[in-house]
Amino acid sequence: MTDKAKINLLGMSRQELTDFFAQRGEKPFRAVQVLKWIHQRDCTDFAAMTDLSKAVRGWLADEAEVRTPEIVLEQSAADGTYKWLLRLDDGNCIETVFIPEDGRGTLCVSSQVGCALDCSFCSTARQGFNRNLTSAEIIGQLQVARGRMQPEDGQSRVISNVVLMGMGEPLLNFEPVLGAVSLMLEDNAYGLSRRRVTVSTSGIIPAMDRLHETLPVALALSLHAPNDALRNELVPINRKYPLGPLMDACRRYVGKGGHHSRVTMEYVMIDGVNDTPGHARELVRLLRDVPCKINLIPFNPFPDAGYRRSSETALARFRDILIQAGYTTITRRPRGDDIDAACGQLVGRVEDRTRRTLRYAKVPNASGVTPP
Ligand code: SAH
Repeated sequence: MTDKAKINLLGMSRQELTDFFAQRGEKPFRAVQVLKWIHQRDCTDFAAMTDLSKAVRGWLADEAEVRTPEIVLEQSAADGTYKWLLRLDDGNCIETVFIPEDGRGTLCVSSQVGCALDCSFCSTARQGFNRNLTSAEIIGQLQVARGRMQPEDGQSRVISNVVLMGMGEPLLNFEPVLGAVSLMLEDNAYGLSRRRVTVSTSGIIPAMDRLHETLPVALALSLHAPNDALRNELVPINRKYPLGPLMDACRRYVGKGGHHSRVTMEYVMIDGVNDTPGHARELVRLLRDVPCKINLIPFNPFPDAGYRRSSETALARFRDILIQAGYTTITRRPRGDDIDAACGQLVGRVEDRTRRTLRYAKVPNASGVTPP
């Protein structure tokens, strides 16, 4: 049997692993044992799984494997941020970022190879789209990062939070994302609480409702504009899922019996585009009755972006209007931007299948805005 034909156990949920063992006449607790080896002890070699019988280890080695993405490049930034370029089986590469903060460590995970959404201010969009990631490729990012975060220097770097804010739109890759998230929450795997796993979306309404019904983890919405005309331009999926229905979906997400009291609204601050006091006041009106907090993200530049970051004055003025209106508002300082690890700078290496990279190559400044 060649390696290719082996079953990869890495992305299997507890239920899937239980079924896998049941089909082979084994007891359900085998699934728990194997989950712990893979996800808690970073062990990918069946021979080393010493609480399994020799016979089980033997047939596992023949039939199955634990295949993780391969690290092509590891970079660390001055502020302690790490970024990994990971190669997948088909040669495409994705990026994963670890961000240490006081008392916590956040892993920013990719969900697709590239992105199909074409948001005008995001460099991942310029890469085009290739394919969805599998559950194994999503959870594999935690596995690989945790392996690299061993406290060699005595400084513990624990992954305490996960955000699906890397490359791709997680809610357009629903099942594999759900499978990986269930492993993040599983006690015998990563054991994170629902509040410490955040799915970030550009606003795929039906999938927001499904997530709420199936696995209500924390939700972030990439809002970026206070009205439909501007959001259509910045986040084109808004034409399909406009702001009115989108705000209703946010209210449903945090509605009765929910695990979360608020949605996090992400708002990238772009000079002269969406950052005036008028925009702030419009945002206050839009978010009335939507339980939320607001993260302002200073725009992170990339080549030929065609946009500039808002000035500190514009940022402060915008933030003050939101705070005065009663919204918890945080200005996110760019992290790891010296290694292009900040929001919207993740590009990996994508074999584009949408021909978008061609379009941008022909019209480098497609937005019509003068680059900085
Ligand atoms: N597709 C999902 C997940 C990507 S998350 C989503 O849209 O939410 C990445 C976050 O970074 C999003 O909020 C995105 O809008 C933001 N972002 C993208 N490009 C950016 C840039 N150049 N500067 C700052 N933030 C950016």
